[in-house]
Amino acid sequence: MFDNQLNGPGTPVVSLSAARKAYGSGDSRVTALDGVSLDFPAGTFTAIMGPSGSGKSTLLQCAAGLDRVDAGEIRLAGADPSKMSETALTKLRRERIGFIFQSFNLLPSLTARQNVELPLKLAGQRPDPTEVERVLASVNLSGRADHLPTELSGGQQQRVAIARALVTKPQVLFADEPTGALDTKTSRDVLALLRRIVAENGQTIIMVTHDPVAASYAGRVVFLADGRIVDQIVHPTVEVVANRMAHLEPDEAPAPEVAPC
Ligand code: ADP
Repeated sequence: MFDNQLNGPGTPVVSLSAARKAYGSGDSRVTALDGVSLDFPAGTFTAIMGPSGSGKSTLLQCAAGLDRVDAGEIRLAGADPSKMSETALTKLRRERIGFIFQSFNLLPSLTARQNVELPLKLAGQRPDPTEVERVLASVNLSGRADHLPTELSGGQQQRVAIARALVTKPQVLFADEPTGALDTKTSRDVLALLRRIVAENGQTIIMVTHDPVAASYAGRVVFLADGRIVDQIVHPTVEVVANRMAHLEPDEAPAPEVAPC
């Protein structure tokens, strides 16, 4: 069994220490995180994988300070979310953290540029047009800044969402199945963009995915099963990740028996 403690070099931007989280009570009690210790060093790109129900979303939610653990400790951008007020936590999330979702979550009545400006406005800042332009250009959307989300392709919408996540210069980006709604080619463009963000900006990305191709863009893949870390792969390839996942899926078909010669 894996020792359930994964630490890499460098200062962690996010860390979980013996994190536990359960839902429900009595017979319906489900342990979603069962003592997870995991560091996310600055400037790294980690994919979280595991079968459905293994605790990936719970890990992401707790690490991002959107939900609280029952026991153990979370460190997020130098702070302990469990000891912060909702107001302080909201401020931390607005200023230090970015989120990218499968469904983009853009505001339909706002243009690409206005969507990107929104986090700054919510934080009470006046958007610097040059900076907004720079962020839009970094995701290759300069020519689409004045379009509404409905006038953009799925890949363009996700790039707006990434620009919106980047505009506050967050230390860490949490991505939940960011390519789940995109076709293969567009997915690869978005994943290459995420990898570039880590390499060029030194930002940290934590991405939940079920797709071995998406995971292969990360620097490492951490595998969960039943709320525990069961393995990690550094410098993952699609084949190795797919093979590891195949052995974690609960409904995996039994290996065919080899007939004796
Ligand atoms: P994954 O993202 O890997 O599919 P989740 O973190 O969503 O896993 O869920 C882990 C376990 O916790 C599952 O058994 C799930 O049913 C349970 N769970 C998650 N959220 C809730 C909730 N809000 N209420 C009750 N059970 C939950």
